[in-house]
Amino acid sequence: MREGVTLNYQIDTDHAHRNEHYRARERLRVKTLYSRTKHGTLGGFSSSTELVDWWIKKFEEQDGCCAYCETSIGLINELINAGLLRTRKVNSNGKRGPCLELERKNPNAGYSPENCTLICYYCNNDKSYVYSEDEYRKFFAPARARHFEYLAQNLPSPVRSKLEDRG
Ligand SMILES: [Zn+2]
Repeated sequence: MREGVTLNYQIDTDHAHRNEHYRARERLRVKTLYSRTKHGTLGGFSSSTELVDWWIKKFEEQDGCCAYCETSIGLINELINAGLLRTRKVNSNGKRGPCLELERKNPNAGYSPENCTLICYYCNNDKSYVYSEDEYRKFFAPARARHFEYLAQNLPSPVRSKLEDRG
């Protein structure tokens, strides 16, 4: 796959998750991902375009943060780029970790704007099908957030201050 349509990519340090360039890439990534989805009809989403529009709006509402641990995808990318956090390889050139993922809050219900939110790979992996949204939020998301904060202490100080500037 060519650059720009890879399903998961790392954002470089100059591409804060808030900038237009990042959002344009995210739009393309999500559209590509869900136009050949195995999730079938996408449930309550009428088309992949509706899903992409919903995704970008949700991303902005959440300010690029995981809905559960509330860690920004910008910080997660900094941790990955610094070698402090592992990703999971998928397919030939994809990886999970650098991008927010689609979460069904209630896994027994379908994909719909009401039942979906955006979360980090690490929360998605932890929650799996094992915990309800409430259990995960109460017991595990705070620990996940603390671990990210702990790791962030090891980022080089110029990176840390740049993240703080983004605030
Ligand atoms: Zn998270």
